[in-house]
Amino acid sequence: MTPCSSRPRLALPDGAVFDLVVIGGGATGLSLALDATRRGFRVALFESHDFASGTSSRSTKLLHGGVRYLAQGRLGLVREALTERAALLQMAPHLAQPLSFVMPAYRWWQRPFYGCGLVLYDLMAGQARLGRTRWLSRPGTLQALPGVRAAGLRGGVAYWDGQFDDARLALAFARTAQQQGAQLFNHTAVLDLHREHDGLTTLTVCDRLGHTQASVRGRCVVNATGVWVDQLRKSTDTAPKPERLVSPSQGVHLVVDRDFLGSDQALLVPHTRDGRVLFAVPWLGKLVLGTTDTPRPDLPREPEAYAQERQFILNEASAVLQRPVHACDVRSEWVGLRPLVARDQERAGQATRGLSREHTIVQDEHGLVTVVGGKWTTCRAMADDVLAHCMAHGLLPQRNPGNPLDPLLGASEGQRHVPLHQPPGIHLYGSLAHEVLACPGNDRLIGMGLTEAMVRHAVRTEWACSVEDVLARRWRTLFLDAREAARMAPAVERILLEEGVGQPGLEDFLKLCRHYLPPHPAI
Ligand code: FAD
Repeated sequence: MTPCSSRPRLALPDGAVFDLVVIGGGATGLSLALDATRRGFRVALFESHDFASGTSSRSTKLLHGGVRYLAQGRLGLVREALTERAALLQMAPHLAQPLSFVMPAYRWWQRPFYGCGLVLYDLMAGQARLGRTRWLSRPGTLQALPGVRAAGLRGGVAYWDGQFDDARLALAFARTAQQQGAQLFNHTAVLDLHREHDGLTTLTVCDRLGHTQASVRGRCVVNATGVWVDQLRKSTDTAPKPERLVSPSQGVHLVVDRDFLGSDQALLVPHTRDGRVLFAVPWLGKLVLGTTDTPRPDLPREPEAYAQERQFILNEASAVLQRPVHACDVRSEWVGLRPLVARDQERAGQATRGLSREHTIVQDEHGLVTVVGGKWTTCRAMADDVLAHCMAHGLLPQRNPGNPLDPLLGASEGQRHVPLHQPPGIHLYGSLAHEVLACPGNDRLIGMGLTEAMVRHAVRTEWACSVEDVLARRWRTLFLDAREAARMAPAVERILLEEGVGQPGLEDFLKLCRHYLPPHPAI
């Protein structure tokens, strides 16, 4: 249905009983909600902040098998992710697309060594291959990536992977699940839960904006709260308290202007000084540089980059680009926390980059199922595994998946899609663009492609409740250019007030913009 007027926040379903209650509205929880709803289960999902506001809006935005895991010989992980990469590209082609990556070679052995690895990567993808790996000459590499350092360059290797808009893909999962019958609530935290004698679990949920509480009941409850899974596990009535599952690690991204690379293709540095890979990815009109892998035991909602992480990315990027990158070039700096599975590896005292990227599922003695780990690319496979677990353990009756590859809302077949490396625009709505066009204010541009109509649509149809929801995740301005986000914020606030949002949180958002810039910016 096309929205034509603002609507009040959905009331909490006090007293309702669901087959499945999902806690956490990131990639893991949302794909689980969609899969379960498609199987015909009655599903509710509660997200304490905004959908994807945790780790799932802070990824490098790659749908990939992981060339790094290939080098580590973790073939099963790579093969599964390559299959999943293809599935997501098919389900939301307006938000997830193939992208060519180029790995420049400065030593004689790099081209044959990495080239052979990438041919294996292609072979492992099989039918899901996106394009052929190509060996590039020196001029060919400079043509593909005009911004890379020419001195000492011997050539390069080009291969294919996927890129996406993480927060908007999360929203596409949410809207599709809602269309299929799931009830989803953002800014609604699960405060506690306990198992009743009848086998059902009662959860106390709190709408953090409306300041209301409710009790809901679930036959099966899944904890999909990412790096926060252990906090929730400790808040259950389980005794003794469970062993820690997650060993978080933070990753920093710096966003700079695209002309540092001057290409529609991405750059991969295969071996940085700390033994990781570094990407420079053209995304929504800018260039994303990242990332790092630093243990982060506290769990802040908005982690800040450590100075040495920022410097590390600037140094590594400057070493491979013609034009050095300085902190003053950074338009936005954002940090995400990886929910890495700790357990055995942690006991062995490994650095976080050696910890498992695979997911794990555990069930406590009261039936709470926790899923953690994995990556954005494999969220569908994680959902499938969780449901298989719940059905095998009698928490849910057996039901087959409907058609798990059915397109998400907004996907349209046969349409030519605007590449995701282009600046943001109406194309990001795919076949739902007509919903935006039906809202007032299409001709009034606020900035960076965002119109007044898009803000209204975000409130009416996409659960946006604050300036931050709009400028961080419905539109990615905060992640692309924090100063520009601060400039646009008052106009967005005005529209939110007109749409009936009581407290759009302008001051908090302006503070957040300062947090998304290297120290001492002049906003
Ligand atoms: P989250 O997205 O964190 O979701 C958990 C949610 O639970 C949060 O929104 C939180 O607010 C909510 N929550 C917490 N407590 C409660 C409560 N009590 N009640 C209700 N809700 C609650 N993967 C890729 O495939 N490609 C990449 O390029 C990539 N790059 C990455 C780069 C970095 C720096 C990082 C950190 C990760 C990257 N990943 C990537 C991994 C991927 O982003 C994560 O695996 C994925 O986003 C985790 O999703 P999640 O749903 O498990 O966690």
